[in-house]
Amino acid sequence: MSQKEDKEAQKVSHETDLYVEVPSTCIPIVYSPQYNITFMGLEKLHPFDAGKWGKVIHFLKEEQFLTDDNIVEAREATEEDLLVVHTKLYLSKLKWSAVVATITEIPPLLFLPNFLVQRKVLRPLRTQTGGTIMAGKLAIDKWGGFHHCSSNKGGGFCAYADITLAIKFLFERVDGVARATIIDLDAHQGNGHERDFLEDRRVYIMDVYNRHIYPGDGFAKRAIKRKVELDWGTEDMEYLQKVELHSEGALNEIRPDIVIYNAGTDILDGDPLGGLAISPQGIMKRDEIIFRAARRRGIPILMVTSGGYQKKTARIIADSILNLHRQGLIGGIALDAAGPSLQPVAMGQSVLPAATVSTV
Ligand SMILES: [Zn+2]
Repeated sequence: MSQKEDKEAQKVSHETDLYVEVPSTCIPIVYSPQYNITFMGLEKLHPFDAGKWGKVIHFLKEEQFLTDDNIVEAREATEEDLLVVHTKLYLSKLKWSAVVATITEIPPLLFLPNFLVQRKVLRPLRTQTGGTIMAGKLAIDKWGGFHHCSSNKGGGFCAYADITLAIKFLFERVDGVARATIIDLDAHQGNGHERDFLEDRRVYIMDVYNRHIYPGDGFAKRAIKRKVELDWGTEDMEYLQKVELHSEGALNEIRPDIVIYNAGTDILDGDPLGGLAISPQGIMKRDEIIFRAARRRGIPILMVTSGGYQKKTARIIADSILNLHRQGLIGGIALDAAGPSLQPVAMGQSVLPAATVSTV
């Protein structure tokens, strides 16, 4: 065996609990009560709804779309899982409360012992990350989002690079997944995954974002194959036209084995950080456009709910999921003649950036 082959052989994938078999009766929504960050009101210091995911699930249960029995429970990503993308150095830096305080933009965390920071902040984020990775596998199985975080830098509230991890796990572990397309429609540029895949031709990135806000990462922009830069206050009509035109264009240009859809809701009118003016109906329409484009081509899709933390956001996400279901684009109905019709929705990984962040 040559030295190089030897190295390859040693790179056998590690054992992970995230690629488990899921009963076919489950609706491919990955979630855990662990996602929600609550700790002595500290979460209120960050201007966002840290319990958003719990509320989305609550609404979906109220509508009898979900029960405790048919939801897929997210598991926490282990250090070994995270090392698939992150460096040891980066992970060990998170053992310093000051570093976590900077990444999450919750300055008082600085004064907490790290074991509490681990338990109350990082464990939820690791569980969300595990959820995204699990949803990646589900997307493929059933068929057949931290976008500012890259492998060695955290920022914009994303301590772990869940999108990058989900894609790397798929490339490493699932036969037949060799190309991925990221459609990033969060209001902010997704510079984390862009930096991670800068040199990787297997990953096609389309990014639609407000050009005037954080992070404005010119270096990362070189990774974007389809860049759609929006101005302050962009409204539904222009937005939806651009989303449709470019998602169709992107998927016509290269046919991926999976679409990773970052469905950030910080494009919503009134969002203090996004600076765009999209209505709740516009968000539902947007999600529908992307699911249809993937569905028409028979491409599995993984959606992460990502940024957007106004009080009304949870209701809008729930409504959009219910709408996708009504349109026959996700969930519930098992295999039909045209093929399996389930598409996963990973609830999770937050991508709340702020002007003060300096870690990117
Ligand atoms: Zn965002």
